[in-house]
Amino acid sequence: MSCSEGRQQKVAGFLLALCAITAVAHSEAEVENSAESFLNSPKLRKVRPHNHGASLHQRHNHVGGKGKTGVAGLHKYHSAEQIFSLIEGLKKDCKMPMSTQWVKDSQSDDSLFVVQIGQPEANKKMLIASNEHARELLGGEVSLRFLQSACESPGGSAFLESASTDSKTDAKTVLQNVQYTIVPIVNVKGRQLVESQDEPCQRTTVEQEGDVDLNRNMEVDWGKGSEQRWGEKPFSTYQARILRDLAAKDKYSGFIDLHTGARSLMTSWGFKPMTDPDFGDQKKVLDIIKKKHCPDCEIGSNRVVIGYENPGEVIDHMYAVAGIKYTSLWEIYDGHTSDCIKNFNAADDEYEESVNNWSNALLTFGQYIHTSVGANERSNPGELNGGLVEQSSELQPRGTAAAAIASQQHTVLEDGEHGLLTT
Ligand SMILES: [Zn+2]
Repeated sequence: MSCSEGRQQKVAGFLLALCAITAVAHSEAEVENSAESFLNSPKLRKVRPHNHGASLHQRHNHVGGKGKTGVAGLHKYHSAEQIFSLIEGLKKDCKMPMSTQWVKDSQSDDSLFVVQIGQPEANKKMLIASNEHARELLGGEVSLRFLQSACESPGGSAFLESASTDSKTDAKTVLQNVQYTIVPIVNVKGRQLVESQDEPCQRTTVEQEGDVDLNRNMEVDWGKGSEQRWGEKPFSTYQARILRDLAAKDKYSGFIDLHTGARSLMTSWGFKPMTDPDFGDQKKVLDIIKKKHCPDCEIGSNRVVIGYENPGEVIDHMYAVAGIKYTSLWEIYDGHTSDCIKNFNAADDEYEESVNNWSNALLTFGQYIHTSVGANERSNPGELNGGLVEQSSELQPRGTAAAAIASQQHTVLEDGEHGLLTT
């Protein structure tokens, strides 16, 4: 019996007994625990999950004015509130121009925490999204580390120290020429259910937000194939609308969507079993990322590499509609287990290496945008249902869910007995 089955059965008590990691110890404090007062998002304060285990301790345990890290039984990980608080705290001493804001949805009072770092006048821009899937805590941690490293003096030296010796990336030069817009946690309330271990396998938005898979809620190929939690219609969620509107507001050269549960660097399409017409150019930068940061990562079409259908996924909108040519979905960790927390999140002893490696990878990508991509280079998706390039059949499905899904017909595509959905 896996956690995913428990998730499907929606039996909370059963789930907790089966899946919860009960040990909640605390690591060295690194967070100013002013989380209660810093947030200017009324929504976030209002819809806090019930206090259970780790989260209760974090909120009320003060040691010398410092808060404790540790959520979901993982000592190194931060709560959503801590991540926002730490990022807010970076602003005053950040060596690069940096700003934060809660960006409001056009149709509701909901908002997402959005950070910009790098020269606002830079003629190239990157957009990063992480933690669309609630249980993929690691993505939010990578975004946090990227911002921490980028802010450190002088000129993002933290990146230089850990970058490979053969081709060091100059963070300062990159950030002076490429401005990053980052949404560290897209699915905040979902993540909080995982942090508290109330729902360690939570993937979608919380029930009051429609129980929607945020990587299925955009318009390209929306609603096609086996039924999924794609929402009532494209952009039925505020998270999808805000991401769409952010992308439309500026001209971005690159978009990275951070996920966990597999190891791969993927491009459109999510539903059609083929790569997009810009794959040749997209692959050039992904080859560099693979070489420097993920030698075991497979590169290719999301649909083909991951082995199941991803209709309405975010990268397809960013690529085909928002016009962002260098759009990619990265699967950055695979725990090879049916335990949701462990499958989607690097263990504490792997945490530093993982967050440093992937925050460096975001910088490597930006450097490529700076040196090798024209400011006016846009995607060339062609007709969305024609003129597409067939992907090599050599690629085999990857990821924990892929093998199981490839071997059987599902009427509803969900986490299965032998695998968990990742993209
Ligand atoms: Zn995911």
